[in-house]
Amino acid sequence: MPEISLSCACGKIIGFTKNVNAQSGNRIVCCCIDCQKFAIFLQQENQVLDQYNGTDIFQMPISYVKITEGNEHIACVKFSQKGLHRWYAKCCNTPIGNTLGHKAPFIGVIHNFMNNQATRDSDLGASLGIAHWQSAKISVPEEHKMSLFKISMRVLGKLIMWKIRGLEQPSVFFNPDGSTVSKPEVLKNKKREG
Ligand SMILES: [Zn+2]
Ligand SMILES: [Zn+2]
Repeated sequence: MPEISLSCACGKIIGFTKNVNAQSGNRIVCCCIDCQKFAIFLQQENQVLDQYNGTDIFQMPISYVKITEGNEHIACVKFSQKGLHRWYAKCCNTPIGNTLGHKAPFIGVIHNFMNNQATRDSDLGASLGIAHWQSAKISVPEEHKMSLFKISMRVLGKLIMWKIRGLEQPSVFFNPDGSTVSKPEVLKNKKREG
């Protein structure tokens, strides 16, 4: 399987993924409001979002993300207390990925953090579809829409396998005691809580 090199835009954070290909994870585009908010929070809309305001994400085991340099630049934001941990490089505001907490062997790595723009389709397969297409900026063609049920089933199936194999640790983002490597900043949203 290809090893994909990882880095933030300025190169202070460097790493790689192992054991990753189209079968080992889910590549999706997410148009949910919070993924859009994350790009806006980072002031990276042009770099992160596609024509639908979607974010190209590869969902994979968290322990397959290896960082070799620059761990101290990793930062975290949450849009609600219970929300996903959204990780980014504070040196240059490159988004890294989204995680579900220390017990879940899961990360959705955002395309900007993978150095594989030219080989992304052969590395990870084509995108399976567009999730949360209801929040897209322009209407999404029927054949690209992916239902939440379908995504949930795919993610759940993978999560169970990854959990059995203990792929939640070692983690770049969570210490073995469950604490985060960097304290999440919780942004309060006045309009919609939770
Ligand atoms: Zn950087
Ligand atoms: Zn999303």
